Amino acid sequence: ITKIGVLTSGGDSPGMNAAIRAVVRTGIYHGMEVYGINRGYSGMVDGDIHRLEGRSVANIIQRGGTFLKTSRCAEFFTKEGRKTAYDNLKKHGIEGLVIIGGDGSFRGAQIFSNEYDIPCIGLPGTIDKDIAGTDFTIGFDTAVNTAVEAIDKIRDTADAHDRLFIIEVMGRDAGYIALHSGISTGAEHILIPEKKTSVEDLIASLKEKERRKKLVNMIVVAEGEDFGGADELAKHIKKEMPHQELRVCILGHIQRGGSPSCFDRVIASRMGYHAVECLMEERFNVFIGIVNNKMHYTPLDEAVKKKQRISEEWLKIVKILAT
Ligand code: ATP
Repeated sequence: ITKIGVLTSGGDSPGMNAAIRAVVRTGIYHGMEVYGINRGYSGMVDGDIHRLEGRSVANIIQRGGTFLKTSRCAEFFTKEGRKTAYDNLKKHGIEGLVIIGGDGSFRGAQIFSNEYDIPCIGLPGTIDKDIAGTDFTIGFDTAVNTAVEAIDKIRDTADAHDRLFIIEVMGRDAGYIALHSGISTGAEHILIPEKKTSVEDLIASLKEKERRKKLVNMIVVAEGEDFGGADELAKHIKKEMPHQELRVCILGHIQRGGSPSCFDRVIASRMGYHAVECLMEERFNVFIGIVNNKMHYTPLDEAVKKKQRISEEWLKIVKILAT
C-alpha cells in the first residue's frame, strides 16, 4: 500500500487531531502518500480529498475538534453513494483508509470494505466510550475531565446555598461519563442507563438523607437515563419534595470541545501509528483498541456499541462513598 486516506466521521471528539497527525506522519515515514478526506464520508462522496504533508499537521496535536471536519453522511448509506466514494478514492489511487469515529462510522467502513477492495482501519474516536474492544476511546478522558471541572464549580455554589443540583452529562445511552465524573466529584447519586433506578427509590433515598440531615448537593444523570433527562427528574423531585431548592444544569457540548488531555493525545498517537502499521502488515478491516495497555484488534464485522454491565464493584463504591 503506497497511498492512504484518513478521515474523521460521526461526532467529533478531542484527540482526533492527534490521531490524524500520527497517521499522516507514520504514513510519510513509511514512504506513503497520505490524503486527508474532509467532512468524513461526505468528502469521499464529494471528492473533497487533498494530499497532506508532514507539515500539514503541524501545531494541531493540542487542538480539540478535527481539522479535517466531520459529518454524518446520508449518501454513504446507499450503494450509489458508496460507489461514487470509491470512484473518488480511485481517482487519487488511494488503496487503504483510516477512519476515526464511532461504531456507526465503523459499520460504514465494514460495509464499504466488503463491497470494494479498499481495506479500512478504524480508530475509536468518541467521548462516550461505548465501543466494545477497547478500554479507552479517543476523547473520553478529556470529556470526563471537562465534566469534572464544571461539576466542581457547580458544587461550590450548590454548597453555598444548600441547593440540590441535577447535572446532566453526555454519553448518549452509555453511562461512563456520568459514572466517572460522578465518582470523582463526590456526587451523592449517579444515574446511568446501565443500572435502572426508580424515581420512587431515588426520592425515598433523598428523604432518608434529609431526615438524618445529610446534605445532598449533586445528582449526576447520564443523558440516556430512562427518566427522560435532568429536567424530567427535577419535575418528579419537585412534586414529592416541594420545599427542596433545586436547580438543573445540562453540561451539553462543552464536554466535546477543548484541548485534549495528555492521555487522549497519547492514545490517539499510539492508535494512529498502529493504524498505518496494520495497513503495512495487511492486518485489514479491524479497529484498533487498547486493552490492558496493549494494542487490541477487533474485526470491523464485530465492532459494536458497548452494552456492558457496569460491575457491581463500581456501584458499591458509589453507594459507600456517597453516604
Ligand atoms: P458517534 O459515536 O459520535 O455518533 P458514529 O461514528 O457512531 O459517531 P454515526 O452517525 O452513527 O456516528 O455514523 C457516522 C456515519 O457513518 C454516518 O453518517 C454514515 O455516513 C456512516 N454509516 C453509519 N452506519 C452506516 C451503515 N450502516 N451503512 C453505511 N454507512 C454508515
